[in-house]
Amino acid sequence: MNSRSPSGGREGVEPGLDMAAPWPQPAPLASAFSSQSYSRYRQVMAQDDADSDDQTSEANGLRKIIHVDMDAFYASVEQRDEPELRGKPVAVGGDGPRGVLTTCSYEARKFGCRSAMPSVTAKRLCPQLIFRRPRFAVYTAISRQIREIFLDYTPLVEPLSLDEAFLDVTDDLKGIGSATRIAELIRARIKAETGLTASAGVSYNKSLAKLASDRNKPDGLCVIRPGEGAQFVAGLPVRRFFGIGPRGAEKMAALGIESGADLRDKDIHFLRQHFGSQADYLYRAARGIDLRRVKANRARKSLGAERTLDKDISSGSALREVLERIIAITWERIEKAEAKGRTVTLKLKHKDFTGLTRARSLARPVASLAEFSKIGHDLLDEVLPLAQPVRLVGLTLSALEEDEPEAPALVGGAAQGSLPF
Ligand SMILES: [Mg+2]
Repeated sequence: MNSRSPSGGREGVEPGLDMAAPWPQPAPLASAFSSQSYSRYRQVMAQDDADSDDQTSEANGLRKIIHVDMDAFYASVEQRDEPELRGKPVAVGGDGPRGVLTTCSYEARKFGCRSAMPSVTAKRLCPQLIFRRPRFAVYTAISRQIREIFLDYTPLVEPLSLDEAFLDVTDDLKGIGSATRIAELIRARIKAETGLTASAGVSYNKSLAKLASDRNKPDGLCVIRPGEGAQFVAGLPVRRFFGIGPRGAEKMAALGIESGADLRDKDIHFLRQHFGSQADYLYRAARGIDLRRVKANRARKSLGAERTLDKDISSGSALREVLERIIAITWERIEKAEAKGRTVTLKLKHKDFTGLTRARSLARPVASLAEFSKIGHDLLDEVLPLAQPVRLVGLTLSALEEDEPEAPALVGGAAQGSLPF
């Protein structure tokens, strides 16, 4: 993937986005947030607080949020690992009659291919499309690598999926000087350490940061500074807003609401009348206000593996064989994560999709593979013989010990707002 200037490529922008809408350019890297724009920000925020007649001030404090999103992640990994795929339209997903694209490369997007598109449709749009099966183990490993980079800058990391996360960098733990600079450092490190490109959005809340990361994809950066959020969303079609699906967008179109500006023109009474409980959210969204906090990675609840069988099985010996493999995979994951857990759960799914689970809890963590394996097999013995064949077998370890303390609360305090955009 070629490298671009921060305000460079626009290929990732979906058709229909109003490209004529003004958007802020990233600040020079070392630039600080001037005291003038700071006081303007305070004024705008005070205005927004008054407008929305509720307690928005807390979340509209000077938070600095970065949304990092890998560019065409799975497809880019395939292109990285198989150089002959570079520069070519690549899809990750099944290419059978019922296959669906998980991701596709930017070269494929030029033909109109998109994530979640049936593979048959994608092949019609782009006959030379090259398919690759997803390699989740590889993607997961890279995702961990990226998360380690994030955690170098802030403990407040909220992953949304393997390839994107919100970071709250309000507290400048490394003394880097600006949120924009942190985003650039993170993008550069991801490139250097994984060979992959990421786009980033920097803003003062999650919605805006996410909209911003999408603006200059791939390999781009976009900053929406305090006071610029309302203007930014005014130019967007409403379907780009988080939480407004195709049906919501249709309903709005019928009411004459196409853009963020149209939405902002409607008063709260109108919104309540037509959108009920969603009204307050929409009212804020149209003003670039988002009250949600970045929630640091929550502790993992369980570890496990499951297998859908090629053909349905009912014989005990065949099931023991399958279970043996699942035990090996799961235990490997447990060891890798250095997890300790007390509860083992066996899950079976019948042909007719009804489920069956058996669990056993110890007073202390499961100590070894041998013990884990014995409990798994004991649980299976409890359900044999089966009344009908099964199509899926799974085994998990839960009631995990939390060995890592919660991230310290960084909310409030003297450092808040000390970091410029
Ligand atoms: Mg992505």
